[in-house]
Amino acid sequence: MNFTQTLRGALIAAGLVTALMSGSIATAADAYPTRPISLIVPFAAGGPTDVLARVLAASMTKNLGQTVVVENRLGAGGTVAAGVVAKAAPDGYTFLIHHNGMATAPTLYRKLPFDVLTDFSYVTLLADVPMTLLGSKKFPPNTMVEFIKYAKENGDKINLANAGLGAVSQLCGTLLQQALGTGFTSIPYSGTGPAMTALLGGQLDVLCDQTTQTLPQIKADKVKLYGVTTAERLASLPDAPTLRESGLKDFEIVVWHGIYGPKGIPPAILARFNEAVKAALKDPAVTQKIEELGAVIVPESKQNPAALQAWLTAEIAKWGPLLKAANQYAD
Ligand code: ASP
Repeated sequence: MNFTQTLRGALIAAGLVTALMSGSIATAADAYPTRPISLIVPFAAGGPTDVLARVLAASMTKNLGQTVVVENRLGAGGTVAAGVVAKAAPDGYTFLIHHNGMATAPTLYRKLPFDVLTDFSYVTLLADVPMTLLGSKKFPPNTMVEFIKYAKENGDKINLANAGLGAVSQLCGTLLQQALGTGFTSIPYSGTGPAMTALLGGQLDVLCDQTTQTLPQIKADKVKLYGVTTAERLASLPDAPTLRESGLKDFEIVVWHGIYGPKGIPPAILARFNEAVKAALKDPAVTQKIEELGAVIVPESKQNPAALQAWLTAEIAKWGPLLKAANQYAD
């Protein structure tokens, strides 16, 4: 065999190996998923993030032909769960659903073991959710005006729930205290599922949380509704004033949710998972439930990785200075 023949043989063999390899990669992506997928929720079961995850997971399970299992990994305002996902194998079998906490964590935690902007695969934005400020039925104020007066007079005698540093309930409490110039007693919970149980039982005075969890309790008249955290009043709760119109200058929190995976998921697998999320966001069983809970699914133009990354970047810039001013940190 001369040199040219040897070289040709080597090239053919290399080509075959490449073809086989790309064939096997294509087959792996085509076959995906072949086993259950974990969708990790950073807060306790029964809370707003958990409710959204379970509605989506049920629909995605039908689309993917494999069970999407919701797992609750609690702690440190969502950063424990985010850390678990950042370190998971990037094989398309572990994902995280999270909210604004992903954007506030870099300011709140001095030693975060991951970088929110570079250590993840970004799947999509999901839905925006307003928050409501609620009191227990046993808590004296009946209206927002009464709440403000009572809060200014009683300050730290009032128990307010938070789901950890980085939770939106904590963020709402921080902004409330800044706006009212008063300090509440902040009670930590592993999520606002258990906080709502305490509010209903009268062990907790005040909870500021997503409508995904609070709307059913408001409609059932089991809590006192003071106001909403959006810039405009909500069509579903037209009588509830915004905190802004009640004198809390510039107050606005809208909770947004996104899905992340560990960095390095093969593009074809990420695209297949994204397709399943998008299909779920169009599934009438999901859209009806989400609408009932006061959440708004993001437009299709935002149901992609680039939109999530851009939004996360903007939110870090938005909340950073406000949180630095509040001087709350975890080491
Ligand atoms: N609503 C929660 C928060 O305060 C978390 C949850 O339980 O979903 O961030």
